[in-house]
Amino acid sequence: MIIELGDFFSSQKSSFPLDLCFSPEDGADATGMIPADLIIKENGIVLKGEIRSVGDYLSLVSAVTVKYGALCDRCLEPFDAEMTFEFDRQIVASQKRGDAREDEEEEPLAVEEGKIDLTEPLSEAIALEAPTVHLCREDCPGLCPTCGKKRDDPTCKCSEKKEIDPRFEILKKLLDNSSEV
Ligand SMILES: [Zn+2]
Ligand SMILES: [Zn+2]
Repeated sequence: MIIELGDFFSSQKSSFPLDLCFSPEDGADATGMIPADLIIKENGIVLKGEIRSVGDYLSLVSAVTVKYGALCDRCLEPFDAEMTFEFDRQIVASQKRGDAREDEEEEPLAVEEGKIDLTEPLSEAIALEAPTVHLCREDCPGLCPTCGKKRDDPTCKCSEKKEIDPRFEILKKLLDNSSEV
């Protein structure tokens, strides 16, 4: 996942548009940083933005969209989703990288031989932004503990069969809540 800066330097302009697209095989996979439950699509990492020259330094200002597949934590079905986050970084010459303060939240990107290697910083950002809970939809009802079908599956009649003593209704609700992810 590389940005070539050659065109930017030769254009002599103060900003340089970027519209890049990467697959996980372009490097993100190899870092081992991407959570295993996040299956990033082919060409699923899209970076749009620009490189700006501000005073005597450069910065990358961009939005990254990641298209991925995951398994729903409640109903266990695979689904596709995407996430978008801002990815802004200062850009420094590689030998100056060490000057960055340790406590700075975001390490600047280093230019080496006219290129910026985004592989590690971008994989790290994806890992940080990745949702910790995957839901096929916000109100996914999950699976019926009795028949294993989705709770809103019309063929699941399990709850109808059981007449529950109202005194136990509260207890049932508590159990239901605690079994949800
Ligand atoms: Zn689900
Ligand atoms: Zn059922």
